Amino acid sequence: MDTIKKDIRALTKTQLREFFEAQGDKAFRGNQVYEWLWQKGAHSFEAMTNISKSTREMLEAHFVINHIKVDTMQRSSDGTIKNAVRLHDDLIVESVLIPTPTRTTACVSSQVGCSLDCRFCATSRLKRMRNLNPDEIYDQVVAIDNESRLYHNRPLSNIVFMGMGEPLMNYNNVLKAIDKITSPEGLAMSPKRIVVSTSGVPKMIRKMADDGVKFKLAVSLHSAIDEVRTAIMPFNATFPLADLRAALEHWYAKTKNRITYEYVVWKGINDKRKDVDALVEFCKFAPSKVNLIEYNPIDDGEFQQARSEAIEMYKNVLEAHRITVTIRRSRGKDIDAACGQLANKS
Ligand code: SAH
Repeated sequence: MDTIKKDIRALTKTQLREFFEAQGDKAFRGNQVYEWLWQKGAHSFEAMTNISKSTREMLEAHFVINHIKVDTMQRSSDGTIKNAVRLHDDLIVESVLIPTPTRTTACVSSQVGCSLDCRFCATSRLKRMRNLNPDEIYDQVVAIDNESRLYHNRPLSNIVFMGMGEPLMNYNNVLKAIDKITSPEGLAMSPKRIVVSTSGVPKMIRKMADDGVKFKLAVSLHSAIDEVRTAIMPFNATFPLADLRAALEHWYAKTKNRITYEYVVWKGINDKRKDVDALVEFCKFAPSKVNLIEYNPIDDGEFQQARSEAIEMYKNVLEAHRITVTIRRSRGKDIDAACGQLANKS
């Protein structure tokens, strides 16, 4: 009879210990195997040299180790690196390493494709195939950390969940991955250096707040006017701005963390004074930062970056209301690695 073997990395340390006990072995064996899987990054049971051969064979009979594989790596002239990552079932996701003089950031994917329909984003044209498992998210980070050490001589310093997919639609697995990333048994990174970016799923923002998560939140707002937002992000009809704002108020009340908004200004879409005024109004309830992102065209026409005068207007009005503004230049455009460009082209 053919049984489907389980991915051993889906087990917690406690579950591994229990497994060994159930096999009549010592629970401690679970710790050893766990260490091989997570600290030593073993890709096979054979590599676990302090485990007896018979135990390794027993593990082989029950489990597989599903590691990701970096299929292709592209390097941009600005130092950005994009990985096309092959999963155990041959699906592909992309992740990006973004170096700056002071930090190295990993931009990771949370889903294969995306179920949302932001009309300016290349990923939205891919069907959502499935959620990534915690270990598939974790492995992307490890791969980028290794590349950072190899090509930039320093470890990874920050992580953003701004690759493919909507992290809050895969909340449990994202949370498990972050647990591993921040745990001393994983990469021991501070949660303060991790940003989860969401297009705005109110129910899940509330849950995050109630769960007391320690990482940061960014919201892809792009417009604070319902009609405009629904036209460019159709799911806004289901999760309108009032619901999003109420959820964010809850988040702020619980965490007292400043809220970051990601915002692209497009010609003829949201480049008028009324658009900025609506944004100021929307931000009022909590200390806010608006990250004005450069638009990365994904096809010809439809969406165009606004003129620099419009961006200046946004900056001036927001700053006059004591809202922090940053202007984010795109990186890795020559290899389709910039925001909104991840679409498995290669
Ligand atoms: N689903 C999550 C994370 C992925 S997108 C979210 O929506 O936040 C990461 C960021 O890139 C989002 O702010 C998104 O709105 C932005 N983005 C998408 N397409 C873009 C494009 N073509 N140019 C610039 N930014 C884009």
